[in-house]
This record gives sequence, structure tokens and C-alpha cells, in this order.
Amino acid sequence: MNTHIYDAIVIGAGGMGSAAAYHLAKSGADVLVLEQFQRGHKFGSSHGETRIIRFFYDKPFYTELMKTAYAEWRDLESVSGKSLLFITGSVGFGAKGNPYGRATKQSLDAAGVESEWWNGTQLANRFPQFQGVEDMDVLWQKDTGFLRAAACTTTHLQLAEKHGATVREETPVTEINWQADVPTIQTENNQFQGRKIVVTAGAWAGILLTELDLPLTVTRQQVCYYQPTDIERFQPDRFPVFVESTPDGEFIYGIPAFGAFDAGGGLKIARHGRGETISPDTPDRTPDPDYIAHIDAYVQERIPELGKATHAEVCLYTETPDEDFIIDAHPQCANVLIAAGFSGHGFKFCALVGRIMSELVRNGETGFDIHPFRIDREQKISSGIPRLQG
Ligand SMILES: Cc1cc2nc3c(=O)[nH]c(=O)nc-3n(C[C@H](O)[C@H](O)[C@H](O)COP(=O)(O)OP(=O)(O)OC[C@H]3O[C@@H](n4cnc5c(N)ncnc54)[C@H](O)[C@@H]3O)c2cc1C
Repeated sequence: MNTHIYDAIVIGAGGMGSAAAYHLAKSGADVLVLEQFQRGHKFGSSHGETRIIRFFYDKPFYTELMKTAYAEWRDLESVSGKSLLFITGSVGFGAKGNPYGRATKQSLDAAGVESEWWNGTQLANRFPQFQGVEDMDVLWQKDTGFLRAAACTTTHLQLAEKHGATVREETPVTEINWQADVPTIQTENNQFQGRKIVVTAGAWAGILLTELDLPLTVTRQQVCYYQPTDIERFQPDRFPVFVESTPDGEFIYGIPAFGAFDAGGGLKIARHGRGETISPDTPDRTPDPDYIAHIDAYVQERIPELGKATHAEVCLYTETPDEDFIIDAHPQCANVLIAAGFSGHGFKFCALVGRIMSELVRNGETGFDIHPFRIDREQKISSGIPRLQG
């Protein structure tokens, strides 16, 4: 047994854990981060070049939280001297009167966030890259953009280390003994003690906390990349983030071209949806030809100059039934704090969740409204209005 007692042990150095480690270490806590793989690995949910950041949600509490989340990302940029957040504006479009568009507009209005209805002709005039959109309802929101996902996680972790956090890679946690006087973490070869334990284990959270039987489902998701000949027309200053709610009840979203082509960059397009349920330890990491063909067919109709996908990648969602996060203390041990179930739309909140976890560790409470994320809430099966992840 290592006799040192840390103020906080963070399990998992993905998007959430790295942010939590940064906020904790910055506030002076003695922090240990345990990661089962190497930092920056591609087996979880936070890898890849980009993630959408947006205010638009059909649930107003997310829009409210995003006000601080944007500010936290800007802070991170200023502290690190890196450009991590790019604003492109977004168009959300679908058949006239589609309920997701209406609910989203209401939620933005309630939060005092500007947005504008366009008709399809306005969309086609402003962004002629889109074809066949003349009959659509279009919601324009100017603050949407994307985060450089992998760079954000690396930056949080590096800054955590700069503030004194210790990061141990290739150190899987096998057990959390929260019944001990001081919570004790078991790894393959060691034990570590922490006054507080922060569980940010992504798709593995349910396995690590089996006693809680958390309502988490891990699904396999895929994204396609396009590298059109005239890439200039798809740069972030000329092409927006977009989301189409299709007549089949699907959401297809896209993020402007970003990243070096030879390093896997390009314009990202994907279908949000309930992918196949899998175990996080054994997903098939080879993208499905059928999925790529489905996205190619969409692109052929909507943005034909993109051509065909050049490559695709697999990523994991960890979903709750109502698609809302879990941010709460372990019901049997207040010293174990959990942030999980980010349901395919959590990345934009990492910087804020990191701050919230640090406040929960240090003060036992946070001023942010996290009641929708309680473990013991009545989890409703997502239904009715189809909801966008991403
Ligand atoms: C295809 C795709 C597109 C997405 N698009 C968007 C988007 O546009 N916008 C958005 O906001 N969100 C998006 N998301 C969601 C977002 O990326 C996730 O919600 C977020 O990355 C989750 O972060 P996390 O820290 O919970 O998980 P992870 O980043 O996976 O981190 C969990 C970490 O814990 C480690 N770990 C697990 N178990 C153990 C253990 N026992 N011991 C030690 N370490 C352990 C893992 O190895 C991993 O590093 C998308 C997700 C996917 C998959």
C-alpha cells in the first residue's frame, strides 16, 4: 500500500477526467490521475479532431449551462495560449414545422440566446454548398462552432500536471474500496488512497461501479470524413456546422473541414443514432461499409461536391435512457463523485464539468444547477421529439 493520501484521485483521463484534474490541481489539490491506456488513446469517446459546441438544445437547462461552458473554454485558451474553440455558426434544418426545431428555438429564446429562422432559399443563397433545401425550415445560430477535441483533452491534462497533478498511464483501476476509512483504489500492482475519488471512466463507468447498476448503455458510433477537391469552400470561415433532421427521424450533422488530411482530418459527417450496444472492451473498430454508403448517399443528395468519404472512424457513446448526464455523489459514499453518461453530447461541457467536479470535491456542493443529473432521478426513456446528440 502506498501510504500517501491524495486529496483527490481521478479515474480516467478522457475529456471529463482531464478537465476535472486541471480544475482540482489549479485550486491547490494534490491530485492523482489514473488512466487505463496511454493519454490521447482512441478507445473511448474523446478522440478525434473536432466536437460541436452549441447553445441550441431543446432542454433549456443545457443552454443555460453552456453560457458558462463557453466562458470556461475561452479561459482555457487564454491560459494555454492555444486556439481550441472555433465559431462557425450553425444551420439546423428539416421539414417545415418539425418539432425539434420549434423546441430548440423556444429553449434559445427562453435563455436569451439569439437565433433566426431562415427559409430554405436564404440557406441556399448563404451556403450554396447545400442542395435541395428550398422547402426546409432553417434555424441559424451564430455562436455554434467546434472544439479541437483531442487538443482540449491534452491541454487540460498538461495544465493539470503543470499545477502538480500526477498522471499514471496504463494503470487500470480494478476496484474502488469506498467502504474503507479513506477510499482506496486498487490497480493491478498498487493501492492508492484519496480523500475523494472522482470517477470519470466514460464507457467503463458502469463496470467500475457495478454495485450501482447505473442505467448506462454503451453504443458503437461511426463518423465519416470528406476531403473535397475544393476544400476552401468548406473551411470554418465559409461553411457552418449543420444538423439536418431527416424525414426518417434521423439527425445527420457535419463539421467544417479541419485538421491535416494526411493525419485523418477533413470535413466530418455522421448520423447520430442509437448505435449497436456493445461492451467497451470488445467493440469492432472497423467502420461498416453499409454505414459509409448511407452517409455517402446523403452527401450525394445534399452536398454533392464533397464526393465520397475518404475514411471513417468508430467512437463510443455512453447513454442514459433520458440522454441526460449523471453528475452526483455515490449514494453510499459521499467521498466518491461520479460524472458519467454523457450520451453523445457531453464534450462541449468538459471544461464546465471539470469545474463542477472540483467544486463538489472541495466544497461538497456547486452553484450550478445539476439536479437534472442526479443518479436517483426518474429516468424516462427518451421518446417523443427525436433529440440531437453531438
Ligand atoms: C462519434 C462521436 C461524436 C460526438 N460528437 C460530439 C459533439 O459534437 N459534441 C459534443 O459535445 N459531444 C460529442 N460527443 C460526446 C463526447 O465526445 C463524450 O460525451 C465525451 O468525450 C465523454 O468524455 P468522458 O471523459 O466521459 O469519456 P472518455 O473520454 O472515454 O474518458 C474515459 C476515460 O476513462 C478511462 N478509464 C475507464 N475505465 C478506467 C479504469 N478502470 N481505470 C483507469 N482508466 C479508466 C478510459 O480509458 C478513458 O480514457 C461525441 C461522441 C462520439 C463518440
